[in-house]
Amino acid sequence: MNNTERYWYEIRGSLYLNICDRCTLRCQFCPKTQGINQVHHYDLSLARQPEAEQVIATLPDLMNYKEVVFCGYGEPTLRLKQLLAIARYCKKYGIRTRLNTDGLGNVVHKRDIIPELAEVVDSVSISLNAQDTETYTNHCQPQLKSAYLAVHQFIRRAVDFFAEVRVTAIEGLEGVDIEQCRTIAERYGATFVPRYLDKVG
Ligand code: SF4
Repeated sequence: MNNTERYWYEIRGSLYLNICDRCTLRCQFCPKTQGINQVHHYDLSLARQPEAEQVIATLPDLMNYKEVVFCGYGEPTLRLKQLLAIARYCKKYGIRTRLNTDGLGNVVHKRDIIPELAEVVDSVSISLNAQDTETYTNHCQPQLKSAYLAVHQFIRRAVDFFAEVRVTAIEGLEGVDIEQCRTIAERYGATFVPRYLDKVG
């Protein structure tokens, strides 16, 4: 595996899968937006978006990990078919699966993808990022219309399908009110988890 094909990396005993280096946001706090390819010393840029079989063929022994996390560098749900196939493979080994997402998958695919995800994904972590549309737009520069509303809808629906739903926002970003983000998350029945800049996992 060379640097242009870094499909997985490890953080604190979890196996992180990098299946897509694209997304529909241009978050100002994201290394990618700043032209930095590296996360945790791993170069996560991809020469091509991989097929499920290509990722699976490179995976280490899953039994050595407590959890598989679809995270990467882009938005995993942009590669929904591949994500589902890889997660299905991982579940055959009884390993926990988690999806870190921007919560825009239903808008991208123009349908509700949550039931399909819930068949093979145990928990989701959804980036709310802000307490209102203006702050979200300022920090995330969404390319899709009504993106912030769509994130709310995704959270509200996700709590009915996944055993664990975490909602995140980054502490210390200008204009982001962490307590309001917490209130929004908890109102939907999700668990709020503050994040910190440059910390993945
Ligand atoms: S959604 Fe994630 S990968 Fe995309 S720009 Fe924002 S932080 Fe970066």
